Amino acid sequence: MDDTPGTTTGAARVAARARRAVVTGGAGFVGSHVCEALVAHGVEVVCVDDLSTGDLGNLAALRDEPRFTFVEADVSRGLDAVGDEPVDLVLHLASPASPLDYLRLPLETLLVGSAGTRHALELAGRAGARFVLASTSEVYGDPEVHPQREDYWGHVNPVGPRSVYDESKRFAEATTAAYRRSRGVDAGIVRIFNTYGPRMRGHDGRMVPTFVRQALAGEPLTVAGDGSQTRSVCYVDDLVDGILAFAATDHPGPVNLGNPTELTVGQVAEDVLAATGSDAGVVHVDLPEDDPRRRRPDAALAERLLGWRARTPWPEGLARTVAWFRAEDGGAEVAAAV
Ligand code: NAD
Repeated sequence: MDDTPGTTTGAARVAARARRAVVTGGAGFVGSHVCEALVAHGVEVVCVDDLSTGDLGNLAALRDEPRFTFVEADVSRGLDAVGDEPVDLVLHLASPASPLDYLRLPLETLLVGSAGTRHALELAGRAGARFVLASTSEVYGDPEVHPQREDYWGHVNPVGPRSVYDESKRFAEATTAAYRRSRGVDAGIVRIFNTYGPRMRGHDGRMVPTFVRQALAGEPLTVAGDGSQTRSVCYVDDLVDGILAFAATDHPGPVNLGNPTELTVGQVAEDVLAATGSDAGVVHVDLPEDDPRRRRPDAALAERLLGWRARTPWPEGLARTVAWFRAEDGGAEVAAAV
């Protein structure tokens, strides 16, 4: 294997050291792309998902793949269903992730970050496997420093509505660090910033899919506040590459994975209107409680450590996302017509 950072894909680097991986949350948006990348590189994948926010349709391409197994189970209750075969890598992605989902599933969200993370770490410990926690930029809360570096401890409201997600991930990070320190598990943390791409759900409340769905339906885009708040969005293929490149190391992290290019929400809305050819315009709605004003990763550590950076330009990622939503819409219309 060529160990020079940046010269091989993340999946190829994992394949050089892992034969069998367990991916929790593998039926979700990010997880399904992770499963596909691993299987494509010859890694056997066991995907564990309770389908609470994921969809088996995301795994359609893997259905007949002998290297892929799907297990329907709630990670918060345990991972016994995975069995006793050797495991080299545990990627813990299971968690409601969109605000609509975690506000609808507050206790489940807290539980999968706490009990779920513990079960996934126990599995990795028993198997002697590498463990990676999919944490989030939300651990920084409404940050007081920009851009956010990994050594910033965050500014989180522990009792606000978003706390079920933010604090669940903070607890998950603490648990991961403790298993590494006290049990010697080869555990690491990636902090994922806003990601977008094919397989997001148009009704999941996240900015890009919401705007694309609205634009394709000819509805005005609902911009929160005056739209001057910023987000940085990373295309899903880039993110998957970063997660897997990190998984192939034994680094503890946390490492930020995100695209440092900052866009205002208003700009994103304009770009979506242009990419879809919609002339429906925008309407302004109230800002959600605890909505962060700015969010931008300092991605220097990922670049130094992994040779990784987000490479897909926003217009290109947006075009691919719009194409996928159009094809899905077309598929749904055909299905409804027969
Ligand atoms: P998603 O909702 O599409 O996927 C999450 C998956 O986890 C779903 O398939 C869901 O059914 C499954 N799941 C939830 N609770 C479970 C449980 N108790 N047991 C088993 N499976 C369970 O979300 P996503 O965007 O793909 O996010 C994946 C991971 O990445 C999450 O941990 C999320 O916090 C993290 N993350 C994502 C983003 C992003 O922008 N997409 C940003 C930061 C962090």
